[in-house]
Amino acid sequence: MSGERANPKLMPERPVVIVDAGHWPEKPGAFGNGLAEHALVWEIAGRIRARFPVDDRHVVLTRPRYWSKPTLQERVDVCNALKAEFFLSIHANAGPPAARGIETFHYRTSRNGKKCAEIIQDEMIRHTGAPDRGIHKDTESGPGSLKVLKDTHCPAVLVEVGFLTNEREAEALACELYIQSLVTAIHRGLLLCLLELGLVKEKSNLVAPVAGLTDSHGRPIKH
Ligand SMILES: [Zn+2]
Repeated sequence: MSGERANPKLMPERPVVIVDAGHWPEKPGAFGNGLAEHALVWEIAGRIRARFPVDDRHVVLTRPRYWSKPTLQERVDVCNALKAEFFLSIHANAGPPAARGIETFHYRTSRNGKKCAEIIQDEMIRHTGAPDRGIHKDTESGPGSLKVLKDTHCPAVLVEVGFLTNEREAEALACELYIQSLVTAIHRGLLLCLLELGLVKEKSNLVAPVAGLTDSHGRPIKH
């Protein structure tokens, strides 16, 4: 035996976070102006995952491969089986051509879900300058509740990152810099939520060392 004791700093207590791309190719969601929701949310979810350290097994994608097709129940099951502390679902919207902007949903009775929806929504608006459609309870999304918000046993938030059916917004969502701003915003929002929920003391140890990252104003991002 070497006599060495495990360094607790090498095994930080990390919250388990589920990052859910809301659709897959055979259940593709919204379309508009040449964009498909399943492809956009796949891209955003993967980029958010990539903002965390490579070896971090605590950030789990519900759709780990492009062709993965997790049902809504399986997304919920992954979250609850892992006893995840946070669930983030990513979607894009469709509507009348004039409808645009970003909105975020939380489960109707979840106070932490509501708080986190506010945090992530604020970050997205601040970084993208998109119209602010606010936060909503799951019941405002249409008939019934959003299963991933209702049945996950942790604070859960569902973001709608923009309207594919709005020409101007679709153009932005097809732009590399805009996607980078969006990913930065959601990632920062997620870290702020983990801080707010008391799940981490310091957000910097959850962040991959990415050099030269700037926000939508060209300022260096300090994590
Ligand atoms: Zn969707």
